[in-house]
Amino acid sequence: MTAAVLALGANLGDAKAALRGAVVALAQTPGIAVLDASPVFETDPVGGPDQPVYVNAIVLVDTSLEPYELLARANAIEAEWHRTREVRWGPRTLDIDIIDIDGFVSNDERLTIPHPRAHERGFVLLPWLTVDPAAVIRGKAVVEYVREVDVAGVRMLEPRLDLVDNT
Ligand code: ATP
Ligand code: CA
Ligand code: CA
Repeated sequence: MTAAVLALGANLGDAKAALRGAVVALAQTPGIAVLDASPVFETDPVGGPDQPVYVNAIVLVDTSLEPYELLARANAIEAEWHRTREVRWGPRTLDIDIIDIDGFVSNDERLTIPHPRAHERGFVLLPWLTVDPAAVIRGKAVVEYVREVDVAGVRMLEPRLDLVDNT
């Protein structure tokens, strides 16, 4: 099994339901075990057109899938939520990005690992720290990146919404 970090985002339709549904779909996938998920964060859009506020979360998984199989599964779950791609960084019903995969590096534009923009994104970094305070990306602690990134638009949802039952 290989550890991987996934980032979920949505800002169209019932975005919280999409995040919950994505975690259920991942957990039901043969070859994927969901280890943990962050609380849901509400985040101001970064880049792209004027659009609704986002919800975001991080999911930690163990997987026996190969990296491109994991990407295909992520894309299939997005498709179940009728994800469309019209405008770059436009509004979406569900986005599943692969942020990092243990022991795997790729510069392919179809699958770039580590994710090329994750370390610049408060909406990835802050949720990630809640499930892994010692997280590292590109050889540097996520907590260090957080010091350099604008996190003003990243808020834990109130009341707190958890995607997995950690009790
Ligand atoms: P961003 O990548 O900046 O977060 P986005 O999520 O809106 O933007 P998408 O339209 O969802 O971008 O994806 C565009 C392409 O990115 C996909 O076709 C996919 O193959 C590719 N891609 C490359 N690396 C990754 C990755 N690490 N995780 C998910 N998709 C990736
Ligand atoms: Ca994305
Ligand atoms: Ca994506």
